Amino acid sequence: MALMIYNTLNGKKEEFKPINGKKVGFYICGPTVNNHIHIGHARSYIFWDLISRYLSFQGFEPRVVSNITDIAIDDKILKELKKLNKSFFELTTHYMLSYFFDRKSLGLKEPDINCLATQHINEMIELVQKLLDKKYAYKADDGIYFDISKFKDYGKLAKIKPKELKEGASNRVKAEEYDKDSAADFVLWKNYKEGEPYWHSPFGKGRPGWHIECSAMSMKYLGESFDIHAGGEDNIFPHHENEIAQSEAATGKTFSKYWIHMKHVLMNGEKMSKSKGNFITVKDAVKKYGALLLRFFFLTTHYRKNIDFTEKELENAKAKLKKIILAFKLLESAKGSNDSKELMKKFEDLKKSFESAMNDDFNTSLAITQWIGFCKEIQSIKGLSRASAKKILIYFGRIKDVFFGDIELFDEKKGDESKKFIEIAIDIRNKARSLKNFELSDYARKKLEEEGIKINDSKDSASWEY
Ligand SMILES: [Zn+2]
Repeated sequence: MALMIYNTLNGKKEEFKPINGKKVGFYICGPTVNNHIHIGHARSYIFWDLISRYLSFQGFEPRVVSNITDIAIDDKILKELKKLNKSFFELTTHYMLSYFFDRKSLGLKEPDINCLATQHINEMIELVQKLLDKKYAYKADDGIYFDISKFKDYGKLAKIKPKELKEGASNRVKAEEYDKDSAADFVLWKNYKEGEPYWHSPFGKGRPGWHIECSAMSMKYLGESFDIHAGGEDNIFPHHENEIAQSEAATGKTFSKYWIHMKHVLMNGEKMSKSKGNFITVKDAVKKYGALLLRFFFLTTHYRKNIDFTEKELENAKAKLKKIILAFKLLESAKGSNDSKELMKKFEDLKKSFESAMNDDFNTSLAITQWIGFCKEIQSIKGLSRASAKKILIYFGRIKDVFFGDIELFDEKKGDESKKFIEIAIDIRNKARSLKNFELSDYARKKLEEEGIKINDSKDSASWEY
């Protein structure tokens, strides 16, 4: 089955056919570095990481480019700067380092290119100039604006028709983020205001608007037309709509072929927001739940569905994760003589069903269900041979890399430690048996079984296995 991707641009699943054979140009809207990233960002970045790894798994060669917005400035940031007595540069550097740290802790692969907006001002100026030359842009008192009435495809991504746009007093929006209802000419270049960072340009001192950076940087590193553009659902309008308008007006070519958007993370059913206080940073979440569980939790729900971040859902994910870890342990410790043709047949079925789920618009939720189903089969086999286990382990290792990235499922040192504790628990149970305290010995057996440890009792001792 070919890889199918839901393309926001056309509102349906389409077969993925990159422009240049196996090579895939993949652009991701990165963070604005004015704060620590939160778990909403984490869900997106984990999923983009999974897409790039799965493309490689299927023999594609993705080239991933992601931006870092280190310019965007608003009153809140200006206030924060004053409060902290920090320079603009100190503030963005601080949060940029925090972002890199969080990426590492989530086991994310670094993009091929991480591009900083402030290092691409020339490219942005050139693009604005091009739009002025082609009369898609015009000068106003406070900066340069894109004239949406000149671009006939305006609204094709967000599915709005420019004719329906409300006539505002000025018919211009100065803000970076606004509703569909207030769609109007948007700012490409803002003239200098006191206290704000600025650059020199042919149109005077000032700074770029937010939207222009992604057009300038994606086209610089991936060409005027490329394959995938990804971002959060909130980016569809106005950010991505405006990116399409600027880029396609300037080049006359299709900008990105596929547009992929991530749904929200809810906190106990509600949208996360700072004012409600239901806001968790990646750092706090990793500290509390561990990166392995976080990555897995986000992948248990399909990316085009909202996911509810609750203790109960995390517990559910943890129970599923344990089954996968247990299967790895069983396979790694297999030393029996049973080649189990039956299991190997199911293994071939798993490969097909797992990949057909992933090829259906990256249905990670279904792929995990298939994977866990097969893990349970492994548990039911007695004395599996090393050779059969090895064949399965090779495939498991590959899908583990796609799902868990650079995070280890369990590290061997910890494995040794847990063995020590299992033996202590069994020793206590033996003691309970010898004292005829069967209530305690049964309780210990039950607890060990919950962790996937089977105890084989002999007359006066006990051995154990996963
Ligand atoms: Zn962007």
